[in-house]
Amino acid sequence: MEQIVEWLTSSKHTVVLTGAGMSTESGLADFRSKSGWWQQIDPRTVATTEALTSNYALFQQFYAARIQALEDVKPHDGHFILANWQRRGLIQHIATQNVDGLHTLAGSDNVDELHGSIRSVRCQKCGQAAEMQHFLAKEACPCGGKLRPNVVLFGENLPQEAWNHTLSHMKAAQLVIVIGTSLEVYPVSQLPHMTNGKTVYINLESGQSHFDLTIEGKAGETLKIIDALLKHDTI
Ligand SMILES: [Zn+2]
Repeated sequence: MEQIVEWLTSSKHTVVLTGAGMSTESGLADFRSKSGWWQQIDPRTVATTEALTSNYALFQQFYAARIQALEDVKPHDGHFILANWQRRGLIQHIATQNVDGLHTLAGSDNVDELHGSIRSVRCQKCGQAAEMQHFLAKEACPCGGKLRPNVVLFGENLPQEAWNHTLSHMKAAQLVIVIGTSLEVYPVSQLPHMTNGKTVYINLESGQSHFDLTIEGKAGETLKIIDALLKHDTI
């Protein structure tokens, strides 16, 4: 823990990359752990472009459930700590695989949502933005097209601008902190290899050997410990 505090205070360009494990302490299920979504349902049946086109009822049901589950979800201390570090200039960029918008709700700026956002919807056919209530009510776009959340489905490309922006930050980084992701999803899994800076991996389940430092623990709890050490350090 002292090591990451030392790197955080000396790095002039720090990038944070978060995944589903960042949101579990806010009460959201992740995808690939033992209690994750993909243990209960095959992602190919709901989170792909094929599901959207040929199994829309199940697709809509799955995303409507996840959108409704977000209603009472709030950012936790870890999200607020990262937003605070960003304001203090300790970190220069946050990128996330999460579609829940919790970093932004906690006050972080310019978060690159590499897998899109589940908080807005559009028409698959004409691309027009639509109201969430229409998607939840299983209504179609006025053009007849199917409504869908602005998440990146399996088989779709990542938002180009967010990807390029994050990539340039990775290349410039002196420190990259990866939090709460099993790094199994390409191409985000490649990002930590695209830096010459120090790399830190914080996750409940370890198993990543390419990092300079690995901390096994929950995202929020670990960030609170680091934040406390940081305060002690700067006094
Ligand atoms: Zn349309």
